[in-house]
Amino acid sequence: MKVLKFGGTSVGSAERMKALVQLINDGEPKIVVLSAMSGTTNSLVEIGVALYAKEHQKANSLIDVLEKKYKDVITQLYSGAPALQKGRELLDSHFNYLRSFTMDLFTVNEERAILAQGELLSTALFHYYLEEIGVESVLLPALNFMRIDENEEPDLKYIEAHIKPELAKYAGKKLFITQGYICRNAFGEIDNLKRGGSDYTATIVGAAIQSDEIQIWTDIDGMHNNDPRIVDKTHPIAELSFDEAAELAYFGAKILHPTCILPAQTRNIPVRLLNTMQPEAKGTVITSKVSGDSIKAVAAKDGITAIKIKSGRMLLAYGFLRSVFEIFERYKTPIDMITTSEVAVSLTIDNTRHLEAIKKELQEFCSVEVDTDQTIVCIVGNFSAAKQGFALRVFESLKNIPIRMISYGGSENNISILVDGKLKKDTLVALNKGLF
Ligand code: ASP
Ligand code: MG
Repeated sequence: MKVLKFGGTSVGSAERMKALVQLINDGEPKIVVLSAMSGTTNSLVEIGVALYAKEHQKANSLIDVLEKKYKDVITQLYSGAPALQKGRELLDSHFNYLRSFTMDLFTVNEERAILAQGELLSTALFHYYLEEIGVESVLLPALNFMRIDENEEPDLKYIEAHIKPELAKYAGKKLFITQGYICRNAFGEIDNLKRGGSDYTATIVGAAIQSDEIQIWTDIDGMHNNDPRIVDKTHPIAELSFDEAAELAYFGAKILHPTCILPAQTRNIPVRLLNTMQPEAKGTVITSKVSGDSIKAVAAKDGITAIKIKSGRMLLAYGFLRSVFEIFERYKTPIDMITTSEVAVSLTIDNTRHLEAIKKELQEFCSVEVDTDQTIVCIVGNFSAAKQGFALRVFESLKNIPIRMISYGGSENNISILVDGKLKKDTLVALNKGLF
């Protein structure tokens, strides 16, 4: 059984939902994971913010605007009275639910319940549409099997144990529709896999049922070799390994949720990235196979903060890095890039929530310099240590760009460099010219 995930734009209008049927109705068994209609989760976030602030009037008017949008969708989606009636009842129940929070106590639990409404709506609306046009499908409630543990990590054992009996209830059925993004937490409360998490749902479900293939359908024809918003003439990469795809997703390729590679990689299930607007395009396939000794793609991640930590005590000493890292660990701040010399170490972070506190602790035993608005540019491919010439090609391309940090050899798939954020575009363009 395959798992196919469609993002917000792929279900973003009645027209797009109708077009989706052609992509899933081929009689092959499959689980279809849907995001909320595009824009919905953002609106729900705004509604949550207004409710937190007790701005009930504002919340109500945001709810009205969203409801109006959905009312238009159902009139465009359904043609017969019974489906329209079901659609109306569905909207009534979800929007009345949203309105009920303006009267009650509002906490983080209510906020998560609100965020879940987008995927509950899109999947039910689509399921009713299939019903109206006579395509048999089963609406599978993700809240019955998707679960995260105390560390907010997907609980694969639980998910596996619960999705299988859920599917077994419908022996002989082939088309299952379920919600991306939403789940329950260790306390059984409604929760989610964080923004963009529908991709993650698809790979977790794929892993749990040991699927043949996971397909992520978006509106671009696969992962590109460079950022198409910044550089002209980029092209989709036909094949990537799990490690290469994870590096690219983490360092800026927006097409895929970075954590979603792991479940597929753990169970060795191919992930195919495909384009709803151009279904015949080959897209990108991500597997365990490492192909070709080559530079495949570059991606950039903005808003990076670089910290240079210098201390005479580092010279010939051991334990120095441990004391540095311990501080970041205590403040739950992940480090992305790191380079060292004998007397100093430079590292980068993305999350600066605890920067001031970290700085203060570091300053107790070293000098600290902070540079904000930096960009990590990551060059991905297969650079085995035995092969020569990759670094030369990268740096030859960048001969006119001042570089703040370089990281090479951390893995066989990645060379990362740090540049001033203002130079991002120049860097991507120079690499495109020099490498591809
Ligand atoms: N609807 C959620 C979001 O907008 C999840 C997703 O689309 O992947 O973040
Ligand atoms: Mg997405």
